[in-house]
Amino acid sequence: MSDYDVIIVGGGPAGLAAGLYTARMDLKAVLLDRGPLGGQLLNTELVEDYPGFDSILGADLAMKMGEHARKFGLEVRDFEPVKEIDTDGEARVVRLESGEELRARALIMAAGGLPRYLEVPGEKEYWGRGVSYCAVCDGAFFKGEELAVVGGGDAAVEEGDFLTRYASKVYVIHRRNEFRAQPILLDRARANPKIEFILDAHVEAIVGDEKVRGLRYERRGKDTELAVGGVFIFVGFVPNSKLLKVHVDHDEAGYILTDRNLETSVPGIWAVGDVRAQLTKQIATAAVGDGTTAAVAASAYVSAQKHAARA
Ligand code: NAP
Repeated sequence: MSDYDVIIVGGGPAGLAAGLYTARMDLKAVLLDRGPLGGQLLNTELVEDYPGFDSILGADLAMKMGEHARKFGLEVRDFEPVKEIDTDGEARVVRLESGEELRARALIMAAGGLPRYLEVPGEKEYWGRGVSYCAVCDGAFFKGEELAVVGGGDAAVEEGDFLTRYASKVYVIHRRNEFRAQPILLDRARANPKIEFILDAHVEAIVGDEKVRGLRYERRGKDTELAVGGVFIFVGFVPNSKLLKVHVDHDEAGYILTDRNLETSVPGIWAVGDVRAQLTKQIATAAVGDGTTAAVAASAYVSAQKHAARA
């Protein structure tokens, strides 16, 4: 017996798009998230690359997506952490931290991931005392201070630029002299007089007393200690695929592999958004595009299962 047609794990834009479509297709669907709805949108100040919105706050877009999905009857259970995902014959099973167990015919895995750690001395020690992984959440605590941002991808460059609204100066420290970040983000950061890039630099340690006071890096054989009041780390992302107790195929970094309809190696389980191996992590594709594809595919799967059960 199944409680639901579809369970969606994760309430970022990928999960919310899947929720909107499944609910609108009249499936009995529930969406679970360990925190508030929005996922990575809540760590993003402005979204400027989602068609139809030339500029919208990440939190506002998250709220609109949540309201839109609920309007079609999606059951949303936020602040409901999932412990593990499993299978039991035809049922897709979700065990919650609360001890409750939910069963469905289909499951859409949209649990995203967590920031990758830099893994240098001082990082764990000063977490919350100057070390942060979220500029939107913590930037305002550093008014007038000099800050370091570590990384060379979109997140580092975009968030470094964002932090200059509070900081007197932001050093973007990257281990190579080429960036992964998109040119438009780089151009904006290069034009910002408060940003200084330090390239070919390897962070060795974060130092301080009761809070962060600096960062030590090695550059071309020379060690330097930079005085900063905070260190923001944006060195990538670790997918939350370990929630799956049943084996699904994944790549070396843990990103789930799917077919063209985003179904995993386990029939009846789809993977969407940042937990899935793919080229781009953009709201329009990885999130909304993925969620929509998986919802349509899951709907067809659920109909076929119901038909087979009646026959
Ligand atoms: P990312 O693209 O994987 O970049 C991670 C950066 O951190 C790379 O520059 C990498 O250096 C560096 N790095 C990794 N491990 C490191 C280590 N141990 N020490 C020092 N540096 C290290 O990650 P991201 O910037 O978080 O972005 C994740 C995804 O979200 C991307 O697909 C991105 O396009 C997307 N995103 C998009 C936007 C936007 O469109 N506005 C904003 C944010 C994120 P190397 O280059 O040397 O490997």
